[in-house]
Formats: sequence, structure tokens, C-alpha cells
Amino acid sequence: MSKRALITGITGQDGAYLAASLLGRGYEIFGMVRRSSHAGVADHRLRWLGIADKVTLLDGNLLDLSSQIRIIQDVKPAEVYNLAAQSFVSASWQQPYLTGEITALGAANMLEAVRIVAPEARFYQASSSEMFGLVQEPVQSETTPFYPRSPYAVAKLYAHWMTVNYRESFGLHASSGILFNHESPLRGVEFVTRKVTDAAARIKLGLQKELRLGNIDAKRDWGHARDYVEAMWLMLQQDTPDDYVVATGRTTTVRDMVEIAFAHVGLRIEDHLVIDPAFLRPAEVDLLLGNPNKARETFGWEASISLEDMIVEMVDADLKRVASQAA
Ligand code: NDP
Ligand code: GDP
Repeated sequence: MSKRALITGITGQDGAYLAASLLGRGYEIFGMVRRSSHAGVADHRLRWLGIADKVTLLDGNLLDLSSQIRIIQDVKPAEVYNLAAQSFVSASWQQPYLTGEITALGAANMLEAVRIVAPEARFYQASSSEMFGLVQEPVQSETTPFYPRSPYAVAKLYAHWMTVNYRESFGLHASSGILFNHESPLRGVEFVTRKVTDAAARIKLGLQKELRLGNIDAKRDWGHARDYVEAMWLMLQQDTPDDYVVATGRTTTVRDMVEIAFAHVGLRIEDHLVIDPAFLRPAEVDLLLGNPNKARETFGWEASISLEDMIVEMVDADLKRVASQAA
């Protein structure tokens, strides 16, 4: 019988790539999705990857423990990946309470559901490099102290420590992946890489003139989501649950990332980039740079896709998408 995995956040970037990867490994995939009046478009990423009809979607919500208990009782998963969250840092200042409910308490709900109904299941929590925030070390690893800088990061820190706590308190096989930024053509367009690649495509096709950004001096350690979901799976294959940084070990400014995207379509940054204070944040994370040695040494994971190749893939995907919308 094939192994069953339950993925929360299956309609998001990582959920879609993880589902595709696990299907390739012979898993049976169940995804928890929140009800919406736009149900017809909620699975657009799964359709983009050609797997919408290969996964089973079940109605549930991270805010509703009863729905999680019911789903876990019905599915009896061997592995649970908790990827659902209010995941956009900037929005977390506008909706700090909701971010706390979904991103922090939602993870606690999921841990409770697993503890009550399926304590043998292996559990993955989607933790974030944003927890390092005002970085306490120039290169961040599993031992670097946390200093969250946004309501999102504070919520993720709670969920991270709850995962550690449930492992230590109840012996759950619960692991936390401290993932640095990872992107793809399926990244939400509000995040800076997709905003830039979408703008590069629109400007190239004559549909937009400007790209308005906030802090272009911020540095991020950007990898590809396709690589990063492999690390999630590898964590759950280990005999012992643990916490791992997943990163490339290279950091780049937002400005240099824009340069890569624009150069690919023959645009000059100075002709189109406008700095707009509206996109500055109340508190910024200036630098993220991860040390992925523990993941490499423990289970041989390494990032395989360069920032350049990823940005080119994203710009090309946006050129196609924008051209087909404009037709
Ligand atoms: P996305 O924003 O693309 O996806 C978030 C998912 O969560 C969506 O499927 C969304 O559903 C779902 N969701 C939100 N609220 C609820 C709720 N109340 N109940 C059920 N589902 C809900 O995020 P990513 O795929 O990029 O990231 C996956 C996880 O990894 C997130 O937890 C994120 O915070 C974390 N992370 C991401 C990083 C990155 O660089 N991408 C870095 C580090 C951590 P809907 O489609 O209905 O909106
Ligand atoms: P984050 O690292 O999870 O916050 O991912 P984002 O892609 O949202 O932001 C990455 C960095 O880009 C942050 O330092 C932002 O301040 C910076 N940035 C600069 N301009 C923008 C913008 O217009 N939108 C977004 N989302 N980020 C921007």
C-alpha cells in the first residue's frame, strides 16, 4: 500500500511542489484546503504542475481544530507537512492578530491533532529564516539565537518552539525546517522576486512602465522551491526528528536580483526602477545568509539551482503567462 501524506497549504507554492515530488515517490496525497467562494481557482498551482486530479483535497482550516482531527482520523497519514500560514511578512503588520492565529496557533492546532489522533505520524513544521530577523551572527545556523522582526516572524517562532516542545514532551517525530527564502514561477506575486519577474515581463511586453520597490539594499539567501521541498521530505525520513537550516549559503541584494531579471529581457534598471517608500517596512531584516552544513552532513541535501537560473525560469514563465493573458 502506498504511503499517505497530508499537506496543509497544498494550494501554496511549496505545497504544490511538495505534492508533485511526493507523487513521484509513489505517495498518496491529501491536502487540507480552506473553503472559499473561489474554489475553482484555488488549485491553480496544482493545475500548473499538472497534478490537480492526482491529489485529494479536503475541506479544513488551521483555525478549526475539529476539522484537523477529522481529516487526520479519515486519512491516517504516515507524514504530515504543515505548510499553511499567513506567509507574507508585510501583511503581518496589517493583520498581526490573524497572523498569530493562523501561523502560530494554527501550528499548535495541527500538533494537537497529530498528538491526539496519530501520534505515530511524522510531522514537518515550515519554520522560517525570518526568525533570525535582526541577525545575531553574520551566517545563520541552527545554533544562532533568534531575533524576530515582524509579527509573522514572532508567530513562526512560537510555532517552531511548539514543534520542539511537542517532540520533547510527547515524543512526536516532529521536525522543523528553518528554510531561507525560496522562490519559483509559482511564488505569490506580492513577494519581491515574483513582483520583479512579473514586472520585467510586463515592461518587456509594453504593458507596464515602472517597477516600484522599497528597500533594494536588503540581502536574501534565495533558493528554488523545487530544491527545498526535497529537504522537507528528507527530514521526515531520518530516524530521529531534528531541526535543520535549509539555505544556499549565498546572499544577494534585491538590486542585484532585479539586475539579473532585467538583463535577461534586455531592460536597464535605471529606466524603470522607482523607489517607493510605501514598500518600506516598519522593521526590516537587512541580511539573511544561511549555513546548510547540518542538512548536507546529515542527509546529503544541497541546493542545485542557482539564483540566475531560477530568475531566468521565472521571467520566462511570466512572459508566457502575461502574453497569454494579454491575448
Ligand atoms: P504560500 O503563501 O504560497 O502558501 C500558504 C498556504 O497556506 C496556502 O495554501 C494557503 O491557502 C494556506 N492557508 C493560509 N491560511 C490558511 C488557513 N487558515 N487554513 C488552511 N490553509 C491556510 O506559502 P509558501 O508555499 O511560500 O510557504 C509555505 C510555508 O513555508 C509557509 O508556512 C511559509 O510561511 C513558510 N516559509 C516560506 C518561505 C518561502 O520563502 N517561501 C521561507 C520560509 C518559510 P490559500 O490558497 O487558500 O491562500
Ligand atoms: P521576506 O524575506 O519573506 O519578507 O520576502 P519578500 O520577498 O517579501 O521580501 C524580501 C526583501 O525584499 C525584504 O527585505 C523587503 O523589504 C524587500 N523589498 C523591497 N521592495 C519590496 C517590494 O516591493 N515588495 C516586497 N515584497 N519586498 C520588497
